Amino acid sequence: MTAKKVNTVLGPVAPEDLGVTLMHEHVLYGYPGWEGDQSIAPFDRLAIVTNAVAVLKDLKANFNLKTYVDATPNDGGRNVDVLKEVSDKSGVNIVCASGYYFEGEGAPVYWKFRASLGDIREELYELFMKEATVGIQGSGIRAGVIKVGSSMNQITDYEKLMFTTAARVQKDAGIPIITHTQHGTMGPEQAALLIASGADAGRIQIGHMSDNLDMAYQEKTFGHGVYVAWDRMGLQGLVGCPMDEARYPVMIDLIQKGYGSRLMISHDFVINWLGRPLNLPEQAYPLVANWHPSHLFRNIIPALKKGGVTDAQIKEILEDNPRRFFAGE
Ligand SMILES: [Zn+2]
Repeated sequence: MTAKKVNTVLGPVAPEDLGVTLMHEHVLYGYPGWEGDQSIAPFDRLAIVTNAVAVLKDLKANFNLKTYVDATPNDGGRNVDVLKEVSDKSGVNIVCASGYYFEGEGAPVYWKFRASLGDIREELYELFMKEATVGIQGSGIRAGVIKVGSSMNQITDYEKLMFTTAARVQKDAGIPIITHTQHGTMGPEQAALLIASGADAGRIQIGHMSDNLDMAYQEKTFGHGVYVAWDRMGLQGLVGCPMDEARYPVMIDLIQKGYGSRLMISHDFVINWLGRPLNLPEQAYPLVANWHPSHLFRNIIPALKKGGVTDAQIKEILEDNPRRFFAGE
């Protein structure tokens, strides 16, 4: 038992009450720039909330989902007021994030301009700390995780500012860190940087590890004692993702080797895209047919069981690991 509380958009919750948890998803997401296209694609709050409530209610009713971690950073269209309404109406806990996406697809212009005038580390620290301990944009809703990301094959200087500040905030505010890795690179380096900057390995989740099936890369990352998130399941053959059929045997192998106590599974699914709808080429449709937060329950768990993974091991991944991650055990 622990006294530590988890910040959800409806207030603090005990780690023991998180239940079945999806560790990296999105209620709404927009790449920087979507705001400028709103004359064509306006922000439709009612539709966004209705869609999200339907998805979360279905996950709750059919698969006992209790907690949905929304990994949207400050530059991805994060909207805590919407998250609050969705959590309230669906009855599913939502944990929101404070932080920034990787340099290439985030919004570094503002911070780079400020960095050209002086050291921005104190400014970032002030922002993340306020969002973790006081609230986001005056809402009183506190971030439950810090989100940071790195580029393909490198952690840029801009990204390093985010990582080192995240480690500092983790220590001072006690909230865990979740990351984005690009095309299955820099997982071990992210873990090493965060730990060297003072972060606690047991409260670091290295993300998008399902994008690299090399066992040495996996074990090198797990070797830092961090959580490893296979959190792009169902997203395959696109944006650097391998096919799920190729992922399953590696995942099973990792669990059989004992890494199940540090493994998370999620989808990085986006319920609502901000801006215009995605124009996916028709040949991509079958690739993303299972890209949905029910995929874990409908397809992944049966595949793992077929490979010999036990119910106890599955429960550990769905419930125990998220609880321990937030509790800092
Ligand atoms: Zn994501």
